Amino acid sequence: MKTILVAGGAGFLGSNLCKKLIQDNIIICLDNLYTSDISNIIPFMNHPNFKFIEHNIINPIDIEIDEIYNLACPASPIHYQKNPIETMKTSVFGIFNLLELAKKYNAKILQASTSEIYGDPAIHPQKETYWGNVNINGPRSCYDEGKRCAETIMCDYHKQFDVNIRIARIFNTYGKNMQKNDGRVISNFIVQALENKDLTIYGDGTQTRSFCYVDDLIDGLIKLMNSTITTPTNLGNPVEYSMLNIAKIILEKIETKSKIIHQELPKDDPIKRKPDITKAKQELNWQPNVSLNEGLDKTIEYFRKIV
Ligand code: UDP
Repeated sequence: MKTILVAGGAGFLGSNLCKKLIQDNIIICLDNLYTSDISNIIPFMNHPNFKFIEHNIINPIDIEIDEIYNLACPASPIHYQKNPIETMKTSVFGIFNLLELAKKYNAKILQASTSEIYGDPAIHPQKETYWGNVNINGPRSCYDEGKRCAETIMCDYHKQFDVNIRIARIFNTYGKNMQKNDGRVISNFIVQALENKDLTIYGDGTQTRSFCYVDDLIDGLIKLMNSTITTPTNLGNPVEYSMLNIAKIILEKIETKSKIIHQELPKDDPIKRKPDITKAKQELNWQPNVSLNEGLDKTIEYFRKIV
Protein backbone atom coordinates (compact mmCIF):
# COMPACT_ATOMS: atom_id res chain seq x y z
CA MET A 1 0.00 0.00 0.00
CA LYS A 2 1.19 3.51 -0.80
CA THR A 3 0.91 6.38 1.67
CA ILE A 4 -0.68 9.30 -0.16
CA LEU A 5 -0.93 12.84 1.14
CA VAL A 6 -3.95 14.76 -0.12
CA ALA A 7 -3.56 18.46 0.67
CA GLY A 8 -6.99 20.06 0.60
CA GLY A 9 -8.46 16.62 1.21
CA ALA A 10 -11.63 17.90 2.87
CA GLY A 11 -12.52 20.12 -0.08
CA PHE A 12 -14.72 19.42 -3.08
CA LEU A 13 -12.13 17.68 -5.28
CA GLY A 14 -9.98 16.48 -2.36
CA SER A 15 -12.76 14.57 -0.63
CA ASN A 16 -13.84 12.91 -3.88
CA LEU A 17 -10.20 11.93 -4.48
CA CYS A 18 -9.81 10.53 -0.93
CA LYS A 19 -12.94 8.45 -1.45
CA LYS A 20 -11.45 6.86 -4.55
CA LEU A 21 -7.88 6.38 -3.26
CA ILE A 22 -8.80 5.03 0.19
CA GLN A 23 -9.77 1.68 -1.30
CA ASP A 24 -6.12 0.69 -1.93
CA ASN A 25 -3.95 3.25 -0.12
CA ILE A 26 -3.26 4.91 3.20
CA ILE A 27 -4.50 8.48 3.02
CA ILE A 28 -3.14 11.41 5.00
CA CYS A 29 -5.62 14.23 4.50
CA LEU A 30 -4.41 17.76 5.24
CA ASP A 31 -6.83 20.66 5.33
CA ASN A 32 -7.21 23.94 7.21
CA LEU A 33 -11.00 23.86 6.64
CA TYR A 34 -11.00 27.43 5.25
CA THR A 35 -13.43 26.76 2.38
CA SER A 36 -13.90 23.03 2.83
CA ASP A 37 -16.21 21.22 5.18
CA ILE A 38 -15.36 18.49 7.64
CA SER A 39 -18.66 16.82 6.71
CA ASN A 40 -17.04 15.85 3.37
CA ILE A 41 -14.61 13.52 5.18
CA ILE A 42 -16.77 12.36 8.10
CA PRO A 43 -17.55 9.13 6.17
CA PHE A 44 -13.83 8.15 6.27
CA MET A 45 -12.92 9.36 9.75
CA ASN A 46 -13.07 5.88 11.28
CA HIS A 47 -11.56 4.14 8.26
CA PRO A 48 -8.30 2.38 9.20
CA ASN A 49 -6.57 3.79 6.06
CA PHE A 50 -7.49 7.40 6.80
CA LYS A 51 -5.87 10.08 8.89
CA PHE A 52 -6.96 13.73 9.01
CA ILE A 53 -4.57 16.48 10.09
CA GLU A 54 -5.85 20.05 10.39
CA HIS A 55 -2.98 21.96 8.81
CA ASN A 56 -2.34 24.98 6.59
CA ILE A 57 0.22 24.15 3.86
CA ILE A 58 1.58 27.70 4.16
CA ASN A 59 3.49 26.12 7.07
CA PRO A 60 5.96 23.27 6.54
CA ILE A 61 5.06 19.72 7.54
CA ASP A 62 7.12 16.53 7.75
CA ILE A 63 5.38 13.21 7.11
CA GLU A 64 6.84 10.23 5.26
CA ILE A 65 4.75 9.69 2.11
CA ASP A 66 4.97 8.11 -1.37
CA GLU A 67 2.72 10.50 -3.29
CA ILE A 68 1.30 13.99 -2.85
CA TYR A 69 -1.80 15.49 -4.49
CA ASN A 70 -1.94 19.24 -3.85
CA LEU A 71 -5.55 20.40 -4.06
CA ALA A 72 -5.25 22.94 -1.26
CA CYS A 73 -6.45 26.39 -2.33
CA PRO A 74 -9.79 28.21 -2.37
CA ALA A 75 -10.93 27.87 -6.00
CA SER A 76 -14.17 29.83 -6.26
CA PRO A 77 -13.70 33.51 -7.25
CA ILE A 78 -15.75 34.82 -4.29
CA HIS A 79 -13.67 32.80 -1.82
CA TYR A 80 -10.18 33.28 -3.26
CA GLN A 81 -10.78 37.04 -3.56
CA LYS A 82 -11.79 37.44 0.10
CA ASN A 83 -8.18 37.23 1.30
CA PRO A 84 -5.96 37.57 -1.79
CA ILE A 85 -2.68 37.55 0.16
CA GLU A 86 -3.60 34.26 1.84
CA THR A 87 -4.63 32.82 -1.56
CA MET A 88 -1.26 33.71 -3.08
CA LYS A 89 0.61 32.33 -0.05
CA THR A 90 -1.38 29.10 -0.24
CA SER A 91 -0.32 28.55 -3.86
CA VAL A 92 3.28 29.71 -3.53
CA PHE A 93 4.44 28.91 0.03
CA GLY A 94 2.23 25.82 -0.07
CA ILE A 95 3.88 24.32 -3.12
CA PHE A 96 7.38 25.10 -1.80
CA ASN A 97 6.56 23.20 1.39
CA LEU A 98 5.08 20.22 -0.43
CA LEU A 99 7.92 20.08 -2.96
CA GLU A 100 10.44 20.02 -0.12
CA LEU A 101 8.53 17.07 1.29
CA ALA A 102 8.48 15.33 -2.11
CA LYS A 103 12.23 15.95 -2.44
CA LYS A 104 13.00 14.60 1.05
CA TYR A 105 11.00 11.37 0.62
CA ASN A 106 11.51 10.94 -3.13
CA ALA A 107 7.72 11.14 -3.59
CA LYS A 108 5.72 11.92 -6.72
CA ILE A 109 3.79 15.19 -6.50
CA LEU A 110 0.76 16.33 -8.49
CA GLN A 111 -0.21 19.99 -8.49
CA ALA A 112 -3.82 20.97 -9.13
CA SER A 113 -3.27 23.81 -11.57
CA THR A 114 -6.15 25.44 -13.36
CA SER A 115 -7.60 26.71 -16.61
CA GLU A 116 -7.33 30.14 -14.91
CA ILE A 117 -3.64 30.16 -15.86
CA TYR A 118 -4.92 30.90 -19.40
CA GLY A 119 -6.70 34.02 -18.07
CA ASP A 120 -9.19 35.53 -20.52
CA PRO A 121 -7.89 33.40 -23.39
CA ALA A 122 -7.18 34.84 -26.83
CA ILE A 123 -6.82 31.29 -28.23
CA HIS A 124 -9.82 28.96 -28.31
CA PRO A 125 -9.96 26.12 -27.31
CA GLN A 126 -6.98 26.26 -24.97
CA LYS A 127 -4.07 23.93 -25.62
CA GLU A 128 -1.28 23.31 -23.10
CA THR A 129 1.14 25.18 -25.36
CA TYR A 130 -0.82 28.47 -24.97
CA TRP A 131 0.83 30.87 -22.50
CA GLY A 132 -2.36 32.68 -21.54
CA ASN A 133 -3.69 36.21 -21.19
CA VAL A 134 -3.70 37.03 -17.48
CA ASN A 135 -4.13 40.39 -15.75
CA ILE A 136 -1.27 40.82 -13.27
CA ASN A 137 -3.13 43.25 -10.98
CA GLY A 138 -6.81 42.35 -11.24
CA PRO A 139 -9.22 40.76 -8.77
CA ARG A 140 -8.47 37.26 -10.11
CA SER A 141 -4.68 37.72 -10.14
CA CYS A 142 -4.06 36.33 -6.64
CA TYR A 143 -5.40 32.98 -7.83
CA ASP A 144 -4.29 33.02 -11.47
CA GLU A 145 -0.76 34.28 -10.85
CA GLY A 146 -0.41 32.13 -7.71
CA LYS A 147 -1.25 29.04 -9.74
CA ARG A 148 1.05 30.13 -12.60
CA CYS A 149 3.88 30.68 -10.13
CA ALA A 150 3.22 27.25 -8.56
CA GLU A 151 3.63 25.65 -12.00
CA THR A 152 6.96 27.44 -12.43
CA ILE A 153 8.16 26.27 -9.01
CA MET A 154 7.09 22.70 -9.82
CA CYS A 155 9.01 22.73 -13.11
CA ASP A 156 12.11 24.23 -11.49
CA TYR A 157 12.16 21.58 -8.72
CA HIS A 158 11.89 19.01 -11.48
CA LYS A 159 14.81 20.53 -13.42
CA GLN A 160 17.01 21.41 -10.46
CA PHE A 161 16.32 18.52 -8.05
CA ASP A 162 14.75 15.90 -10.31
CA VAL A 163 11.52 15.87 -8.30
CA ASN A 164 8.94 13.66 -10.03
CA ILE A 165 6.13 16.12 -10.90
CA ARG A 166 2.67 16.08 -12.48
CA ILE A 167 0.67 19.21 -13.36
CA ALA A 168 -3.07 18.97 -14.00
CA ARG A 169 -4.72 22.05 -15.51
CA ILE A 170 -8.23 21.57 -14.20
CA PHE A 171 -11.13 23.22 -16.04
CA ASN A 172 -14.53 23.95 -14.43
CA THR A 173 -15.71 20.94 -12.45
CA TYR A 174 -18.95 20.32 -10.54
CA GLY A 175 -20.67 17.61 -8.54
CA LYS A 176 -21.14 16.11 -5.09
CA ASN A 177 -19.38 17.67 -2.08
CA MET A 178 -19.52 21.20 -3.48
CA GLN A 179 -20.49 23.58 -0.72
CA LYS A 180 -23.92 25.17 -0.84
CA ASN A 181 -22.23 28.59 -0.61
CA ASP A 182 -19.41 27.67 -3.03
CA GLY A 183 -20.36 30.61 -5.25
CA ARG A 184 -19.59 28.96 -8.57
CA VAL A 185 -22.18 28.93 -11.28
CA ILE A 186 -23.59 25.40 -11.23
CA SER A 187 -23.94 25.19 -7.45
CA ASN A 188 -25.39 28.73 -7.33
CA PHE A 189 -28.03 28.01 -9.99
CA ILE A 190 -29.06 24.66 -8.49
CA VAL A 191 -29.29 26.02 -4.93
CA GLN A 192 -31.17 29.11 -6.14
CA ALA A 193 -33.67 26.97 -8.07
CA LEU A 194 -34.19 24.61 -5.13
CA GLU A 195 -34.81 27.58 -2.83
CA ASN A 196 -37.16 29.34 -5.31
CA LYS A 197 -34.74 32.27 -5.57
CA ASP A 198 -33.97 33.90 -8.90
CA LEU A 199 -30.99 32.57 -10.87
CA THR A 200 -28.29 35.24 -10.98
CA ILE A 201 -26.66 35.43 -14.39
CA TYR A 202 -23.66 37.75 -14.34
CA GLY A 203 -23.63 39.93 -17.46
CA ASP A 204 -25.71 38.91 -20.48
CA GLY A 205 -24.97 35.19 -20.00
CA THR A 206 -23.25 34.72 -23.37
CA GLN A 207 -19.91 33.92 -21.68
CA THR A 208 -19.05 30.23 -21.94
CA ARG A 209 -17.49 27.49 -19.82
CA SER A 210 -17.04 23.74 -20.24
CA PHE A 211 -18.09 21.64 -17.25
CA CYS A 212 -16.62 18.33 -16.16
CA TYR A 213 -18.39 16.03 -13.71
CA VAL A 214 -16.25 15.35 -10.65
CA ASP A 215 -15.96 11.55 -11.09
CA ASP A 216 -14.45 12.01 -14.55
CA LEU A 217 -12.01 14.60 -13.25
CA ILE A 218 -10.87 12.37 -10.37
CA ASP A 219 -10.21 9.51 -12.83
CA GLY A 220 -8.12 11.91 -14.90
CA LEU A 221 -6.08 13.04 -11.88
CA ILE A 222 -5.27 9.46 -10.87
CA LYS A 223 -4.37 8.51 -14.44
CA LEU A 224 -2.09 11.52 -14.67
CA MET A 225 -0.40 10.67 -11.36
CA ASN A 226 0.17 7.09 -12.59
CA SER A 227 1.57 8.26 -15.93
CA THR A 228 5.08 9.53 -16.67
CA ILE A 229 3.95 12.94 -17.99
CA THR A 230 5.87 15.71 -16.24
CA THR A 231 4.51 18.54 -18.41
CA PRO A 232 1.17 20.35 -17.82
CA THR A 233 -1.93 18.45 -18.95
CA ASN A 234 -5.44 19.84 -19.45
CA LEU A 235 -8.23 17.92 -17.72
CA GLY A 236 -11.80 18.98 -18.40
CA ASN A 237 -14.87 18.34 -20.47
CA PRO A 238 -14.64 20.03 -23.88
CA VAL A 239 -18.39 20.51 -24.35
CA GLU A 240 -18.98 24.28 -24.13
CA TYR A 241 -22.12 26.02 -22.82
CA SER A 242 -23.16 29.64 -22.33
CA MET A 243 -24.28 30.58 -18.80
CA LEU A 244 -27.71 31.45 -20.18
CA ASN A 245 -27.95 27.94 -21.55
CA ILE A 246 -26.88 26.41 -18.21
CA ALA A 247 -29.53 28.45 -16.37
CA LYS A 248 -32.24 27.30 -18.79
CA ILE A 249 -31.20 23.63 -18.51
CA ILE A 250 -31.29 23.80 -14.70
CA LEU A 251 -34.68 25.52 -14.73
CA GLU A 252 -36.02 22.69 -16.89
CA LYS A 253 -34.76 20.09 -14.43
CA ILE A 254 -36.04 21.61 -11.17
CA GLU A 255 -39.65 22.51 -10.41
CA THR A 256 -39.29 26.04 -9.08
CA LYS A 257 -40.74 29.54 -8.96
CA SER A 258 -37.31 30.98 -9.83
CA LYS A 259 -36.75 33.24 -12.84
CA ILE A 260 -33.55 34.40 -14.49
CA ILE A 261 -32.19 37.79 -13.43
CA HIS A 262 -29.05 39.57 -14.59
CA GLN A 263 -26.37 41.09 -12.36
CA GLU A 264 -23.16 42.93 -13.14
CA LEU A 265 -20.41 40.88 -14.81
CA PRO A 266 -17.39 40.71 -12.48
CA LYS A 267 -14.17 42.39 -13.70
CA ASP A 268 -11.87 40.19 -15.82
CA ASP A 269 -14.46 37.40 -16.07
CA PRO A 270 -13.18 35.24 -18.97
CA ILE A 271 -15.44 35.46 -22.04
CA LYS A 272 -14.99 31.87 -23.13
CA ARG A 273 -13.19 28.77 -22.03
CA LYS A 274 -12.90 25.25 -23.37
CA PRO A 275 -10.09 22.75 -22.98
CA ASP A 276 -8.28 21.05 -25.83
CA ILE A 277 -7.86 17.58 -24.30
CA THR A 278 -6.01 15.93 -27.20
CA LYS A 279 -2.97 15.36 -24.98
CA ALA A 280 -4.96 13.65 -22.18
CA LYS A 281 -6.81 11.54 -24.76
CA GLN A 282 -3.67 10.40 -26.53
CA GLU A 283 -1.21 10.08 -23.65
CA LEU A 284 -3.50 9.11 -20.74
CA ASN A 285 -6.24 7.41 -22.70
CA TRP A 286 -8.61 9.64 -20.69
CA GLN A 287 -11.72 11.52 -21.66
CA PRO A 288 -14.88 12.46 -19.74
CA ASN A 289 -17.76 9.99 -19.88
CA VAL A 290 -20.49 11.77 -17.90
CA SER A 291 -22.74 14.07 -19.95
CA LEU A 292 -23.88 17.41 -18.52
CA ASN A 293 -27.41 16.01 -18.40
CA GLU A 294 -26.37 13.03 -16.24
CA GLY A 295 -23.92 15.04 -14.12
CA LEU A 296 -26.51 17.72 -13.38
CA ASP A 297 -29.06 15.09 -12.32
CA LYS A 298 -26.54 13.63 -9.84
CA THR A 299 -25.56 17.08 -8.58
CA ILE A 300 -29.20 18.15 -8.13
CA GLU A 301 -29.84 14.94 -6.17
CA TYR A 302 -26.85 15.77 -3.92
CA PHE A 303 -27.99 19.37 -3.31
CA ARG A 304 -31.60 18.28 -2.59
CA LYS A 305 -30.21 16.44 0.45
CA ILE A 306 -28.28 19.40 1.85
CA VAL A 307 -30.44 22.41 0.92
N1 UDP B 1 -21.69 33.12 -12.98
C1 UDP B 1 -23.00 33.55 -13.10
N2 UDP B 1 -23.80 33.48 -12.01
C2 UDP B 1 -23.38 33.00 -10.82
C3 UDP B 1 -22.04 32.55 -10.69
C4 UDP B 1 -21.22 32.64 -11.81
O1 UDP B 1 -23.44 33.97 -14.18
O2 UDP B 1 -24.18 32.96 -9.87
C5 UDP B 1 -20.82 33.17 -14.18
C6 UDP B 1 -19.47 33.85 -13.96
O3 UDP B 1 -19.58 35.24 -14.17
C7 UDP B 1 -18.62 33.15 -15.01
C8 UDP B 1 -19.22 31.75 -15.11
O4 UDP B 1 -20.51 31.85 -14.54
O5 UDP B 1 -18.75 33.78 -16.25
C9 UDP B 1 -18.42 30.72 -14.34
O6 UDP B 1 -18.20 31.23 -13.06
P1 UDP B 1 -17.61 30.37 -11.89
O7 UDP B 1 -17.50 31.27 -10.70
O8 UDP B 1 -18.40 29.11 -11.73
O9 UDP B 1 -16.18 29.90 -12.37
P2 UDP B 1 -14.98 30.62 -13.18
O10 UDP B 1 -14.87 29.83 -14.42
O11 UDP B 1 -15.34 32.06 -13.47
O12 UDP B 1 -13.82 30.54 -12.26
